[in-house]
Amino acid sequence: MTYRRGVFYKAILGYSQAVRHRPLEPTFPGSNPGTPTHDATPVFVGRRFSFQFNCNTVCCVSDTEDSNAFRSMSKQDLKALSTNELKAALAALGEPAYRAEQIRHALYSQDVREIDQMTTLPKALREKLSAAFFISRLSPAQGVGSAEKENAQTVKLLYELSDGAQIETVLIPDWREGRKRMTVCVSSQVGCAMACKFCATGYMGFSRNLTIGEIIDQVWGAMEVAETYYAQRISNVVFMGMGEPMLNFERVIEAIEILSHDRYYFKIGERHITLSTVGIVPGIERLTESKAKCRLALSLHSAIEEKRQELMPIAQVYSLQELKAALQRYTTIKRKPVFLEYLLLSGINDGEEDAKALIKFARAFPSKINLIDYNPIANIDYERVTESKKEKFMRKLADANLTVTCRRSRGADINAACGQLATQTLSTKKIKNVAQQDMRTSTSIHN
Ligand code: SF4
Repeated sequence: MTYRRGVFYKAILGYSQAVRHRPLEPTFPGSNPGTPTHDATPVFVGRRFSFQFNCNTVCCVSDTEDSNAFRSMSKQDLKALSTNELKAALAALGEPAYRAEQIRHALYSQDVREIDQMTTLPKALREKLSAAFFISRLSPAQGVGSAEKENAQTVKLLYELSDGAQIETVLIPDWREGRKRMTVCVSSQVGCAMACKFCATGYMGFSRNLTIGEIIDQVWGAMEVAETYYAQRISNVVFMGMGEPMLNFERVIEAIEILSHDRYYFKIGERHITLSTVGIVPGIERLTESKAKCRLALSLHSAIEEKRQELMPIAQVYSLQELKAALQRYTTIKRKPVFLEYLLLSGINDGEEDAKALIKFARAFPSKINLIDYNPIANIDYERVTESKKEKFMRKLADANLTVTCRRSRGADINAACGQLATQTLSTKKIKNVAQQDMRTSTSIHN
């Protein structure tokens, strides 16, 4: 059975049993994950603007600080380095490993933008570092402010990176029921190879992994917007933007360390950082073994194998049975529940048998279910369920004594489902082409 299934995977998606145990971060023809491709001509230098829609939402476009683009051609970004890479770089310069923490502290506590401002380092070291490195910084657009911001349900930031790639970040203020929650939804990759059928990012294909600095700067940029316009700090971070975080595992985990570090600027607690996966089992296993200070969410969307495989090609690789086993182990070791994200799609996964399967799956380990409204995407044929159907579905889960919440759709007016803003520029034809290409990309990643 295992052998036959392996052959099937290899034929359909290019996966194989052996490949599944390789390190999670794939290599891609023509790109080096985690390292910006600095040979691209910067096209955005000096361009910085914002715009608003005729709705109660603020959108803005931003870019990497101008000078980064030029410096990046000859020097390496200090914020792209992992702790080990930073220590290795310091060793190559003849410096002790403890300097790495001094550098990290200057970057993420003091928000130093120039190496020469790292006054905790000796001048000679600053000079050596300056010769080989620079500090990148993504910045939110100038002039985001407007009277409308107070009513904004979501603020979407589109960042253009130093290689011209685009990523998006969504800020979600939530004042309901006396809460004062300010959540930022961050991206972990440029595009995504997972090709989920209901997701705009899935149609873009994969370009590259984000660096640690690019992940952190999304939160920093959102923090500046939140503090300036809402007088509020970011309270929650969710890795539910573009990309599959488990496929950029090392950098995402280091970013979480920085975000939760009590000596750095963000100080976001473990219960307020959520890593969401489509169900990459080796990633869940690594997270179980790690000390990462975050919670885990699984994008489930169907607890019926065939339907899930139809909606999410990755389900052809990791079965519900395997997922269940991995989540049972995770919840046992971590003593924390898993959030099951369930996007309700009319006529697809909202029926009686869907609810029954979901109840059975969710009862296998401590879990909480989040039902999510679908934000319609142009040229993708799914529909949102009606309120009455949603309530009926929700009641079935509640009657089975499961904890269930419904995440109201916020940001439908700015296409705030993941990947939608960045995909706006793609025509229908391009979306179809990318969809086909994406399947080929999946094959090349895992072979
Ligand atoms: S839903 Fe998430 S994992 Fe699936 S294609 Fe979109 S970004 Fe990728």
